[in-house]
Amino acid sequence: MENFDFTNIQNIIYMFSAMLFITGIKMLGKESTAQKGNFISATGMLLAISATAINIVNPLIALVAILLGGIIGAIISVKVKMTSIPEMVALFNGFGGLATFLIAWSQMNNLVNDIAILQFVLVVITIYIGGVTFSGSLVAFGKLSGRINVNKGDVLANIFVSLFYLSLIAVPVTLITLSIYIETYQLIFYMFLAIVILGGIGFVLPIGGGDMPVVISLLNSFSGIAAAFAGLLLVNNVLIVAGSLVGASGLILTIIMAKAMNRTIGNILFVGYASSNSSSSKDEGEVKPINAEDAYLILENSSSVLIVPGYGMAVAQAQHVVRELGELLEENGAEVKYGIHPVAGRMPGHMNVLLAEANVSYDLLVEPDDVNPTMEVFDVAIVIGANDVVNPSATEEPGSPIYGMPIIEVHKAKTVFVLKRSMSSGFAGVQNPLFFKENTRMLFGDAKDSISNLVSEFKEL
Ligand code: NDP
Repeated sequence: MENFDFTNIQNIIYMFSAMLFITGIKMLGKESTAQKGNFISATGMLLAISATAINIVNPLIALVAILLGGIIGAIISVKVKMTSIPEMVALFNGFGGLATFLIAWSQMNNLVNDIAILQFVLVVITIYIGGVTFSGSLVAFGKLSGRINVNKGDVLANIFVSLFYLSLIAVPVTLITLSIYIETYQLIFYMFLAIVILGGIGFVLPIGGGDMPVVISLLNSFSGIAAAFAGLLLVNNVLIVAGSLVGASGLILTIIMAKAMNRTIGNILFVGYASSNSSSSKDEGEVKPINAEDAYLILENSSSVLIVPGYGMAVAQAQHVVRELGELLEENGAEVKYGIHPVAGRMPGHMNVLLAEANVSYDLLVEPDDVNPTMEVFDVAIVIGANDVVNPSATEEPGSPIYGMPIIEVHKAKTVFVLKRSMSSGFAGVQNPLFFKENTRMLFGDAKDSISNLVSEFKEL
């Protein structure tokens, strides 16, 4: 028993965990299997962590850490509101980055005593990606929760963008300097740690509006890449596999999101010093409010209706009454479709998840490219708490911060109802000329209340 080598068993468990991760991810692709897929992946993670913990010097400390982390994670997950999940995801990306940053930092001392060039490069790169992911994700968390409101072109953003560029240069400079002065590495190394953290802030601070979804999926990918590098450093197979899975899937998502926004990733990340051109305060004229009774009379006579949900539907948790309204419209003889913009809400697939939860059939969902060419056919487009994703400035105003982003062109429908509480702007902070168009009527109020009122009108029929 003395010569018992646990490494082989550990590797078998790791392989099994990797299989569970991949099966779980595959199952996440379908609404009907997603919940099970999540559970299977989490089981894989528990196995992987347990197999790692048993083989370390003090398994008791590892056990306490697992329990503590598990309890904190469970409490956060139970308590978090549906609308705060995007912020939570940003935080989780950040924690992943922090973990790899600390792992790589801890490996630095070993390197000083026993220099191996590949290890050395790995440590510096892991610290960079992990650190940028950590501080960048904290800024993303702040922006998503409305705590940080800095835009491209603001003085603060420009200062931090410079630090981001400096941090990029710092990687090769640190590598060269440290390889020469390795015995007295501390000062240079700590300066590198600081510039990495500041660089991460500069990476995300100027990004806003329509570009945030791309950055969030990129940070998600970075957290995976950093974990894979940390796996190489620690020679831990499961960390390499799990990190690569997150890195690759995050990168695919980033490309999909960038394509959906009609932007290149380089354009989003490196056009940092634009002048501030946030909100256009141009007076657009008068809006025309409408009440539920009058809106109902128009809907009752409509034969085709497009429902376009946005972040406000998530805030109001209106998805169930929205489905009810859709069904009542269909019973009344109207053809109903749901226009889903890829970045509506605050996380990829946000609207799909909410509508699936309310049992809206996937066949009724249409993407902007499919619905825009036939927009003139719709008698009414009902915009439910969406703003940026239906903002015509994106196609009509070259100076607008969201210019170039594809939108759902509801303004081309015969009549548009916009359901929101006030005239305030959406995430990008820009005015929306849709509200002032001749064919637009504003149905002010909480989306759930407004839709419930429409549903009651139909039921009183
Ligand atoms: P927006 O953020 O543009 O607008 C949401 C609107 O909902 C607001 O104008 C708000 O107006 C209204 N609203 C809020 N609460 C309620 C409520 N209870 N009842 C009725 N209306 C309400 O949302 P969109 O979905 O149109 O666009 C998403 C934006 O978020 C895009 O800019 C996108 O780039 C960004 N983003 C998306 C991410 C993603 O992955 N999907 C991630 C990060 C950012 P009022 O306060 O007047 O009610």
